[in-house]
Amino acid sequence: MNRLAAAPVRRSGRAHADATWTRTWIFDLDNTLHDATPNIFPHINRAMTEYLQSALGLDADSASELRRNYWKRYGATLLGLMRHHGTDPYHFLWHTHQFTNLASMVVREPLLRSTLRRLPGRKFVFSNAPVHYARAVLKALGITDLFDAVFAIESTRYRPKPDAHGFLRLVRTNNLRAQRCIMVEDTLVNLRTAKKLGMKTVWVSREKRAPCYVDVKISNLSELRRRLPQLA
Ligand SMILES: [Mg+2]
Repeated sequence: MNRLAAAPVRRSGRAHADATWTRTWIFDLDNTLHDATPNIFPHINRAMTEYLQSALGLDADSASELRRNYWKRYGATLLGLMRHHGTDPYHFLWHTHQFTNLASMVVREPLLRSTLRRLPGRKFVFSNAPVHYARAVLKALGITDLFDAVFAIESTRYRPKPDAHGFLRLVRTNNLRAQRCIMVEDTLVNLRTAKKLGMKTVWVSREKRAPCYVDVKISNLSELRRRLPQLA
């Protein structure tokens, strides 16, 4: 008998892990899938300040202070504007997230696309940003096709992370089980909610230490592949 011919085909450990992988990835967008700090956040902050100046008749300093104040108090400038000034969220988000050349402003990891492609499992984006912007960033990064869906602030009915409401809507809408999801985020408070709901948590950060509700801490997404055993 030809022993070689009779031997079962062995899968490599990695291929086997991919075939049995049942978890779903939920990625935050800004400062997780790309670095928004150098170009995009300053642009959005300027646009929000200008919006407040024009909508509320404020000078630049007062508008900037109010923007930061609402952001600190409510976690998003928009929520303060809706609560105290009846601002139309669609109008605000549209006018504060306009870019003439977004592709030149996104800063990404060099191997972002192949990093994501090599991760087994379905992938979603969950962002507190508006959907038109989230889609434009994914397009600029060249990774749109790697995600099943984009869940943006409109989908949370303007109850952004860390409110559990959006997480639960995302899970329900896509027939997911929170206990089988992995949330990948740069913002700790959002991971705390994810953990409370039973998700695994990945913190993208250069900090040395992580709180107990973080399962895995990485400084680059390229580290995710070798951390899979801790997230299975
Ligand atoms: Mg973020």
